[in-house]
Amino acid sequence: MGRMLLEAMLGLAREQHPHEVVLLLRGRTKGDTVRVEDFLVPPLAVGGSGFAEFPLHMLPIDFSIVGTAHSHPSGVLRPSVGDLNHFYGRIMILLAHPYTLTKAAAFNARGERLPIEVRD
Ligand SMILES: [Zn+2]
Repeated sequence: MGRMLLEAMLGLAREQHPHEVVLLLRGRTKGDTVRVEDFLVPPLAVGGSGFAEFPLHMLPIDFSIVGTAHSHPSGVLRPSVGDLNHFYGRIMILLAHPYTLTKAAAFNARGERLPIEVRD
């Protein structure tokens, strides 16, 4: 994914801290590779009660949604049990406090960490 895109997501997370932010990731998949091209801020995503309570099942089906991202104001850079139970799409990106590039990580539905390739 592009560095500016990741920086924008981290910036949003930083702005909303200590609240959690939930984002929908748009892009395309090719084999095992997911290319994130854009993100959406879903309605009610900011300042809500968090990812595990977010009504992803109420969103319209959009096949360009490749996954989700949300922040962890606690700084923990791994998915919670609730996160994995609410997995949506192919990947989940976590943005952990203090929201630097090294505090972003991607995971699959089994909670295994995936490499992120950041391009300039
Ligand atoms: Zn979480």
